[in-house]
This record gives sequence, structure tokens and C-alpha cells, in this order.
Amino acid sequence: MPSASSPASTLLRREILDLHAYHVPDSAGYIKLDAMENPYPVPSALRGEIADAVAAAAINRYPDPAAASLKEKIRGVLGLPDGMEVLLGNGSDELIQLLAMALNKPGAALLGVEPSFVMYRMIATFTGMRYVSVPLTEDFSLDLPATLAAIRREQPALIFLAYPNNPTGNLFPADAVIQIIEAAQGLVVVDEAYYAFAGDSFIPRLARYSNLLVMRTFSKLGMAGLRLGFLAGSAAWLEQLEKLRLPYNVGVLPQLVAGKLLEHHGVLLRQAEQIKRDRAKLYRQLSEIAAVRVYPSEANFLLFRVAHATEVFDGLKQRGVLIKNLNGGHPMLHDCLRVTVGTGDECAKFVSALHDTLTQLAQG
Ligand SMILES: *Cc1c(COP(=O)(O)O)cnc(C)c1O
Repeated sequence: MPSASSPASTLLRREILDLHAYHVPDSAGYIKLDAMENPYPVPSALRGEIADAVAAAAINRYPDPAAASLKEKIRGVLGLPDGMEVLLGNGSDELIQLLAMALNKPGAALLGVEPSFVMYRMIATFTGMRYVSVPLTEDFSLDLPATLAAIRREQPALIFLAYPNNPTGNLFPADAVIQIIEAAQGLVVVDEAYYAFAGDSFIPRLARYSNLLVMRTFSKLGMAGLRLGFLAGSAAWLEQLEKLRLPYNVGVLPQLVAGKLLEHHGVLLRQAEQIKRDRAKLYRQLSEIAAVRVYPSEANFLLFRVAHATEVFDGLKQRGVLIKNLNGGHPMLHDCLRVTVGTGDECAKFVSALHDTLTQLAQG
């Protein structure tokens, strides 16, 4: 909070003063398994090509505001149905904000399930949108009757469903998501941040529903540092939303480097395949630990529950492994931790640090 003598404390909106900043811990020196990043650096064969392109980039000029070349490449790898368009964001977080600003008529509601991605709630708060949450069931499944009832009761203008969900990792059943889209009068955004690790997508279903948009990011596929996300959907939506997009929201260098990486999309997808194999192995290893309950995941992370989670988190950190402590956040995530699937070596070090920590805690 600003000090009482600062005009910030009287001028700022109450809900901003009350908000807790999104906390990102210092990760220097740790095995970093906290943020769902792809653990693999850019392949060496590609580095020279990227370096040459960056050296020749016109960074004295504003970027192409339409990002035509990059959008063409995205369309090329996406398999977008005919007539569907793409809108680029500086990360998909920016697109969540843009959607909330666009749909925030007086009294309009944003509906999310919980626990899910915390930015839906935070951005509803920033933008002054009424936030409605529907709890998942105890095992983090979608509570379809409760969700449909909330849609009828609250008539949300905007619904976000993370598919797969973060931080739980599960993929809601497609037919339940379809029932939500069909029941909603408002816009449903299926957030496919983890599409590269999941077995299903709503992109092929876009043309069927006029109130559906699919949101994706390249952050989890190996480009978190570039900040690039997009919305896919009909021109009827995207031409209007385009008016709110700040003209140069994706810089020259992200446009260029993402374009180069997408020319080698296959390399990134092969890394994702490796991460999926390592996820299966890590899931088995965690399942074998009696003190741990691990949840199924179609993303590049695993959620698990363990008694005294914060002490386990601290013990891992002391052993050089940084994961995400969800304990103390949402009440349904009591004693929950989330680990990103890293390289095989990083996963092995995590498992070994976890065994050591649990042994130490058991000895009191
Ligand atoms: C990581 C994540 C995002 C945000 O991605 P950025 O493009 O890096 O802003 C959006 N939605 C979900 C569900 C995520 O987990």
C-alpha cells in the first residue's frame, strides 16, 4: 500500500489497492520447474538463422501493425477452418484483458471455474467486471450442472475455460464444454495455452459456434520470452476486437523470431512430444510415492497433493529445485504443489530431491 501521505492512496481505485500483485519469485540458480516453460533452448542449428534475421531487423521502424507475415505462418501451422481469422496479443494475458475491456458493459459478468488460471479473476478486477466463479468438484472435474445453472442465473457476457485447465492439468470433457457453449448467450473463450501437450482442440469446432473463440499462446511451446498469443475465430468478432488492440502490441523482434521458429514448428512439436513422454514417467514416479496424490494431466505440468506442502516446497528449494506452491492460495488447492515437466535430467533431480525431502520430514 502507498503511504497515507501519497496521493496514490486516495486517487487509485479501491480494488487496485486491495489487489495482491502477481508474485514471480527470483529463480536464479534453481532448477526452474515453476512456470510451465519449455526446458529446451532454441536448437543450435536455428540460432545462426535467428541471429542473422535479428541483425538485419529494422528496429528503428515501428513493427508491421498487421503482422501479416507472422499471421500467415501461424495460419500455416494451425489448420484454421475457412473464414476464420487470427488476432495477435503480447502474450495471451493481453488478450484476456482486451476481451474483458471489450465486453464490459455496465453490470456484465465474467464467469470462470475455480481453481483455474488466476488472471481471469485478476483481469475482471482490473477492468471492473463482475466476476462469477463456479467451483470444480473435489477431484477438479467440471461441475456441469452448477456451471449451467450459473450461466442461466448470471448470464455472463464472457466465459473462460482453460482446456486443459491450469493449475489442475486435466482436460474437461469436450461434450461438457460444448454444452456450456450451447447454453451461453455470452462469448465463450476456450484457452488452449497447453494445446501442444493435449489430445484435443476446439479449433476444428470454431465454425460451428458463433459465440466461440479459441485462445492460444506460444509461451508453453518454447517462446515464453517472446510474449506472443493469439485469438482464433470469426471475422465478426475479431474485426471488432482488432479496434481495441494497441497498434504495435507485438514488436519487430518477437514478430521476426516467432516467424523463424514457426518455420521449424516441427522441432517444437517434437520437444512437446518428449515432454509428454517425460510427463508420463514423472506421473508414474509420483504415483509410486505413498505420501503423494498426483492428478492426471494433459499439460506440461503435474499437480500433486502432499501433507505439509509448504515444508515440502521449502525442502525442494533448499535442494535447488523451484516448483510452484499453491498451498495457501485457493482453498481447494490446500497442500497442492505444481511441478513443470522439465528435461529428463531435471525431472530426475526433482524426484530425488522430493524423496530426500519427504524422508527428512518423516524423521521430524
Ligand atoms: C500460461 C497461461 C496463459 C498465459 O500465457 P501468456 O501468453 O504467456 O500470457 C494463459 N492461459 C493459461 C491457462 C495459462 O496457463
